[in-house]
Amino acid sequence: MAGPGLDRADGDLAIRVRDLRVSYGDFEAVRGIDLQVRRGEIFALLGTNGAGKTTTLEVLEGFGRRSGGEVSVLGLDPATDTAALRPRMGVQLQEGGFVEELTVLESLQLWQRMVDRRDEPQRLLERFELTTRRDVAVGKLSGGEKRRLDLAMAVWGSPELAVLDEPTTGLDPESRRRTWDAIQELQEAGRTVVLTTHYLEEAEALADRIAIMHEGRIAVSGSLSEIVAAQPAGFSATLPGPLDLPPLRGRAEHDGETLRVRTDDLQGDLTTFLTWAADRGVRLPDLRAAPASLADIYHGIRTEQ
Ligand code: ATP
Repeated sequence: MAGPGLDRADGDLAIRVRDLRVSYGDFEAVRGIDLQVRRGEIFALLGTNGAGKTTTLEVLEGFGRRSGGEVSVLGLDPATDTAALRPRMGVQLQEGGFVEELTVLESLQLWQRMVDRRDEPQRLLERFELTTRRDVAVGKLSGGEKRRLDLAMAVWGSPELAVLDEPTTGLDPESRRRTWDAIQELQEAGRTVVLTTHYLEEAEALADRIAIMHEGRIAVSGSLSEIVAAQPAGFSATLPGPLDLPPLRGRAEHDGETLRVRTDDLQGDLTTFLTWAADRGVRLPDLRAAPASLADIYHGIRTEQ
């Protein structure tokens, strides 16, 4: 599903993907997806394990070959214009490819010589709280420290586009928070960020737009408010006993104790229900009404199949 107003001129887009397909032998891991990422936005790709997120990012990064479809990244084709794209793009892979014997500082110094963007190892050491680890061999870092070093290299020199595969997996809450700050700093500098995550709260906190993948396809996409608005909302209340409920537009379930209603017309159904309760003098001390959460939507996608 493309959100409203998404069909934009290419100039506004950092990434445009049409009908992308990627196969590994007979297995089609990505089954015809469309994506549009605007310049300057943070875009989060969510999904179940094996949904095809990493495979998709690898195509955008120029590391993976597509079997079909069109891909434009910063106006270039990552499959053929890899050399031209490389200096404009920061990439964090799911597994960093470090030289384990080099220290943290030596790794950043090596990076400084290899990457065509200017930055200072000292700035990154401070930014990612690696100053006290600067003389430690990379092979001896903890998983979270390696992840931070990986990210430091990806955001080196504030690239026009950063593609980050699970940037906060394995980080403690404080490091995660700081990583979010670093990602938001990129956006404040006008950069574009595409990331994958398994953390719904991360997508909610960071992303301007989201796509949720499942089994090689995009199940839903759009801004969080667009996605939530398109899903049924719900209300619940404790109501013991058999009920003679009024007709509701949504689907009501009553287990003899709790009433749960999922509906596309929250206001209408809630009004009907509250009128019904008031007419009968029924008290509803634990009445709750809420739009669908990202967690509900995610859960719905996983269980729909
Ligand atoms: P996760 O959240 O678990 O990291 P993902 O959404 O990133 O998953 P991918 O890593 O893109 O998923 O994998 C998509 C599918 O393709 C999976 O079923 C995976 O087993 C398969 N796959 C990935 N890489 C290869 C490969 N090199 N050869 C064969 N199959 C592969």
